Amino acid sequence: MSTLLDIQALTVSFDGFKALNDLNFRMEEGELRVIIGPNGAGKTTFLDVITGKVNPTTGTAYFKGKDLKKYKEHEIARLGIGRKFQTPRIYLNLTPRENLELSGNRAKSVFSTLLGQAATAEKRQVSSLLETIGLDYKADVPAALLSHGEKQWLEIGMLVAQSPDLLLVDEPVAGLTDEETEKTGELLVALAESHSVIVIEHDMEFVRQIARQVTVLHQGSVLCEGTMDQVQSDPRVIEVYLGQEVEA
Ligand code: ADP
Ligand code: MG
Repeated sequence: MSTLLDIQALTVSFDGFKALNDLNFRMEEGELRVIIGPNGAGKTTFLDVITGKVNPTTGTAYFKGKDLKKYKEHEIARLGIGRKFQTPRIYLNLTPRENLELSGNRAKSVFSTLLGQAATAEKRQVSSLLETIGLDYKADVPAALLSHGEKQWLEIGMLVAQSPDLLLVDEPVAGLTDEETEKTGELLVALAESHSVIVIEHDMEFVRQIARQVTVLHQGSVLCEGTMDQVQSDPRVIEVYLGQEVEA
């Protein structure tokens, strides 16, 4: 295993307010990592830096040894970092199959498209992806008819169709039913067999379902890391989460 993401002394200031504050983080290839933390901890800003949407004020983020400061947002996507946003960005008038075909094509080189290579292999890939995301039985209906959960799975599938090395998923189960939440967990665990994945999440029961290694963010820094059991029994974590409950 080699290091996929190495983040050193990362600070992001917004008008003097440090959304990320001297943050250090490391992740190995093939890991499924869950990042938790109270509202405002800096979780989304962390993803914004990794995807090149926000530039670090100080510090460095390395992806596969490359300093991400040197790349623009679309170049970082091409380096192999794919991000799923909270609101699905799918074509509602197209079917799940068509949505997946489109995403796959966007990622391919001009040459393979010109040469018409591997068209059969692609069809097979789309079919197997439809099965993975549990939408094979709705593959050919307009995506507008999918439930909220099914739309989320389709978007995760569209991300996977672009073959990223690292999948970033921000709060994938917000607004889902319990059953959909559980299926989303199963999907992410399945995808983690062949991808490195970072999931940001609030829902603790969901985190328990999928988490191996958990990183807790608080006030822009890493508060602690460990298994779900270790993290949940850490007095600092309890204090941070209790504090939030009192505020809410
Ligand atoms: P989380 O995702 O953990 O809830 P965020 O990364 O969204 O936290 O935000 C961390 C902190 O940075 C919050 O206090 C938020 O208000 C602040 N923040 C985020 N983006 C900006 C911005 N563009 N300008 C100013 N403040 C911001
Ligand atoms: Mg957020």
